[in-house]
Amino acid sequence: MTVAPLRISIIGGGIGGLTAALALQHFGFRVSLFEQARELREIGAGVVISPNAMHALNFLGVGERVAQDAGPTELYVVRHYQTGEVLKTRWTGPEFFHHFGASYHQGHRGDLHGALAAAVVRNDPDCVFLEHRFETLTQDRDNVVATFANGRSHESDVLIGCDGGASRVRAAVFGDQIVNYTGQMAFRALMPIASVPPRIMKNAYAMHVGVNRALLHYPLRNRTIMNVVGLAREPKWQEEGWQIPATLDEFEALYADFHQDALDLVHAIAPGTLFKWGLRDREPLQHYTKGRVTMLGDAAHPMSPFLGQGACIAIEDALVLGRAFAAAATFAEAFAIYENTRKERANGAQLASRQQADELQGVTERGANPGAHALTRGLYAYNPATEPLAPARVQA
Ligand code: FAD
Repeated sequence: MTVAPLRISIIGGGIGGLTAALALQHFGFRVSLFEQARELREIGAGVVISPNAMHALNFLGVGERVAQDAGPTELYVVRHYQTGEVLKTRWTGPEFFHHFGASYHQGHRGDLHGALAAAVVRNDPDCVFLEHRFETLTQDRDNVVATFANGRSHESDVLIGCDGGASRVRAAVFGDQIVNYTGQMAFRALMPIASVPPRIMKNAYAMHVGVNRALLHYPLRNRTIMNVVGLAREPKWQEEGWQIPATLDEFEALYADFHQDALDLVHAIAPGTLFKWGLRDREPLQHYTKGRVTMLGDAAHPMSPFLGQGACIAIEDALVLGRAFAAAATFAEAFAIYENTRKERANGAQLASRQQADELQGVTERGANPGAHALTRGLYAYNPATEPLAPARVQA
């Protein structure tokens, strides 16, 4: 059984929206994807792609390219922020494949996004509409009409909101949400491996955990680039967004009491390559669907970065949505299957990520606490390609 041909709109061409487009195409549906940006691209930053998401990428035929672009992963170590002592190690290589049936990678977001975009456009060269900033929508018994800032509108049978944490689709359908500043800010930088201090390269994938701060780094693109991420408590309100320039002075000041290897890494970041933003927290949606509209990825469950799972969970959502359309007789049934299969897991991951922020930067007798991890929380043991679909009981 499958839903009859439908006009499907997807709002947002990020990792979630593109994977949703690819999954629906895989099951024989045509989609129209609307993205606000002038081109389909991602910011320069790393992204962990854990086995739960790799299952979906493999199923959709892009896993091999993503794995090749990223290259093999290495030993993960957690280090004490002041002494540099290794507190924990974890292998992320072949054992992961053996255990979960899929591999684990750290990719460049642009590479993952590029692989998805290429596959979507190969399936249908006319399905992506750039410079379409969604503004609002109306829906009735027969269709849903989205309107865009460029003055155009588009009618479809169903619409999937994949426009990220500050989703306008969610606001249009479910109303504005309360947004809280988490009291945490993030820094990010990419640097060529040649400029990374050699002592850091001995444990190239490491999290340095300290009171109120964590510093994470891992290599990308077959060890040619180092991704550096700082997460620090900062009570002052910080802007949202990924592109706000930061100075090395403010980064160094926050990490001044870290051990020398970590400081050498921070000092080696080139001026002009450091960005910062304040992390916002929003509640997950209790219902993803209203009528002809459903939500996916950060638009449904805006995820903080503390478990490195937001993109992975969006990828899971997308494949389950495609499978739900393939299994259902109507779009309403497909949406109900999707929501019932996904909500507990995806909202649970969001809440776990929120909790992880406190654990990661908590204080113990030793001063630093590596906390739990997406792995120890069991999040990797999920295969969105084979996970049984929940019944289509439509939620009240
Ligand atoms: P987004 O990536 O936000 O994409 C939304 C898309 O919609 C964008 O293309 C945007 O331009 C478009 N859009 C927005 N508004 C409109 C509009 N009005 N009209 C049209 N288009 C619109 N996750 C992991 O799995 N692994 C990690 O290692 C990881 N690390 C992270 C590190 C940091 C520092 C942060 C902040 C997050 C991290 N995440 C990670 C989380 C992950 O980045 C997000 O959860 C993921 O990007 C969500 O994907 P999405 O497609 O739902 O939303």
